[in-house]
Amino acid sequence: MIIVMKPKATQENIEHVVEKLHKYGLEAHLSQGKLVTIIGVIGDKAVLANKNMELLPGVDKLIPVTETYKLVNRKFSDQNTVFKIKDIEIGGGNFTLIAGPCSIESEEQIFSTAKSLSEAGVKILRGGAFKPRTSPYSFQGLGEEGLKLMEGAAKQFNMITVSEVTSVYALDIAEKYLDIIQIGARNMHNYELLKEVGRTHKPIFLKRGLSATIDEWLNAAEYIIRENNSKVILCERGIRTFETSTRNTLDISAVPVVKSKSHLPVFVDPSHASGVKEYIIPLARAAVAADCDGLMVEVHPDPDQALSDGAQSLTPVEFMELIKQIKPIVEIMRRKLR
Ligand code: PEP
Ligand code: MN
Repeated sequence: MIIVMKPKATQENIEHVVEKLHKYGLEAHLSQGKLVTIIGVIGDKAVLANKNMELLPGVDKLIPVTETYKLVNRKFSDQNTVFKIKDIEIGGGNFTLIAGPCSIESEEQIFSTAKSLSEAGVKILRGGAFKPRTSPYSFQGLGEEGLKLMEGAAKQFNMITVSEVTSVYALDIAEKYLDIIQIGARNMHNYELLKEVGRTHKPIFLKRGLSATIDEWLNAAEYIIRENNSKVILCERGIRTFETSTRNTLDISAVPVVKSKSHLPVFVDPSHASGVKEYIIPLARAAVAADCDGLMVEVHPDPDQALSDGAQSLTPVEFMELIKQIKPIVEIMRRKLR
């Protein structure tokens, strides 16, 4: 249930409603817009039956919400979420590029990638340090050492960073080095980890689970925001289907669907979605046209030598071609490339 206050509702009116909710054992989450305040009611709203909340002073209307997620629900906030990470604004009229290697492998690799990307105008550097690999015998990432290297590269080239955490242990380490924390597809259902990252003050890049429905994905975002961390970016990265020509199937419809159900920014990762470098640029073009807020792309200085995901990594030169091809579409979508 969502309680919409009247434009003229006073602070006292709002507090009165919140007090009532607390009295009935419910939680209240406030969204204070320029004109109206919206109160998200969390808990068993059956206790509100016959309580006539709509008659309280300052209350405009009650909107029942059938979805189990509230705070990420567009009904809770009809304004798209826009926020800044350092001086980089996400969402709104911005189109943001995140790029970098699948894994941080060495000082030379991450510095050279950061240099090329910053010359291409990219502000957000990605690189995995705690890698969730399918086989335990595959490269598992450099851990803290890798994050230190990426932090150094980002500082030198005036970029900010994002990397995945796979456990609370990794989170404790990673928080010191990162500007954005990624929850990967495999951990989208790890609810304890979602709660933990929700308690940090870092923005969270939340990838869609391998076989997660959109509602499950939005509920995962709800876990984070419920802990008072409202800076969540959703990322569609392909889902499992019967099709085997690509690593996953990019669910392009997820972009408009999520945008209609939620106010959160939505990115697309055409690298993990396809697993094949030739398909990355066409999928990137489609993602921009579907009106996503940004892309995450894997870029490696020498993909043939990459320790992970080389087959889906673009060289810096190929990445420049991606930028060239999406630029006119970004403009048609009335966004600014960042
Ligand atoms: C990644 O971005 O490094 C990654 C492992 O992606 P995903 O979680 O989408 O598979
Ligand atoms: Mn990867």
